[in-house]
Amino acid sequence: MELLNRLVVGSAPLLPRFFIGRVAARYVAGDSLDEGLALVTHLNTLGFAGTLDVLGEEVREAEATMRFRDAYVEVLDGIANSGADCNVSLKLTALGLCIDPELCWDNLALILDRAREFDNFVRFDMEDSSVTQATLKMCQRAREFYPQCGTVLQAYLHRTLEDARSLAGPESNVRICKGAYVEPGVIAFQGYQEVRDSFMATARQLLEQGSYACFATHDLWLIEQCEALVAELGVAPDRYEFQALSGVPIETTLDRLVAAGHRVRYYIPFGPEWYAYSLRRMRENPAIWRHTLRAMFSRSRHRQR
Ligand SMILES: Cc1cc2nc3c(=O)[nH]c(=O)nc-3n(C[C@H](O)[C@H](O)[C@H](O)COP(=O)(O)OP(=O)(O)OC[C@H]3O[C@@H](n4cnc5c(N)ncnc54)[C@H](O)[C@@H]3O)c2cc1C
Repeated sequence: MELLNRLVVGSAPLLPRFFIGRVAARYVAGDSLDEGLALVTHLNTLGFAGTLDVLGEEVREAEATMRFRDAYVEVLDGIANSGADCNVSLKLTALGLCIDPELCWDNLALILDRAREFDNFVRFDMEDSSVTQATLKMCQRAREFYPQCGTVLQAYLHRTLEDARSLAGPESNVRICKGAYVEPGVIAFQGYQEVRDSFMATARQLLEQGSYACFATHDLWLIEQCEALVAELGVAPDRYEFQALSGVPIETTLDRLVAAGHRVRYYIPFGPEWYAYSLRRMRENPAIWRHTLRAMFSRSRHRQR
């Protein structure tokens, strides 16, 4: 299967744009902010919160980082105007982290100022390990400027439990996920169960130290373990949430979580960069082509189209 995955992903740029478009159609709300907001509003009516992500990362030109900054300011305005239950997720490399951290900070500070106006929350997605430390550092600086922001810990990294110890506390808000990039064995767990165990150890650490914890996973075993953990620790329902990527077929579980009184948030990417995004996602996670093929024959109840 590994060889087949690599073969399909290696030839992805040769696949018809139509096929890649089908990958995107499943996971991406559309090209425009209006389409993103329409999906959020629809999900709100079903009991879900949202987080909007403007597609794009690893931007290399300073001018392009400012376009991303402006796009996020527009998103925050759009959320406020529509009254949607939604925050934003962004990638610091789209704001210039790999060009110049000060450029990134200037862009970020503008976004945080706008978020402050609307009392909204800003999440910094975690990218590959080359920017883990820089992301944590930028997050620390940002939280001193505007506390309603937070980042992500990836369970597959060996360093994560230690990072959780230093990040955790009643003021912190951390998303935990398995990790989406391909990282080497010297810094990352490679075993499926090892990553799950690290996820749960991190979740426990954060909750025991009073953090707001976001469980971002579609792994049903992990979802059940997280439900058991919050019950065991007696964590109030407004101190944690479950998160899922829009388009992943776990509607039944998410509906059950909402009905049981848990907060659930959908991560909703949108923007014209869906082609590059989908190719990158396929390269990082070769198994995604199988999800796509399956998705071409099914339709999410949590989508409008
Ligand atoms: C809200 C959210 C935010 C995230 N933010 C980040 C981040 O900032 N940084 C980062 O590195 N990673 C991020 N991720 C991705 C995460 O790290 C994992 O790569 C991804 O969620 C798959 O892991 P899993 O926990 O769902 O478990 P898996 O074991 O990969 O999957 C569990 C089940 O879900 C199904 N599934 C998983 N993914 C898909 C898919 N795309 N389409 C269809 N079915 C699927 C699988 O078939 C499997 O049965 C985020 C994930 C979520 C849900």
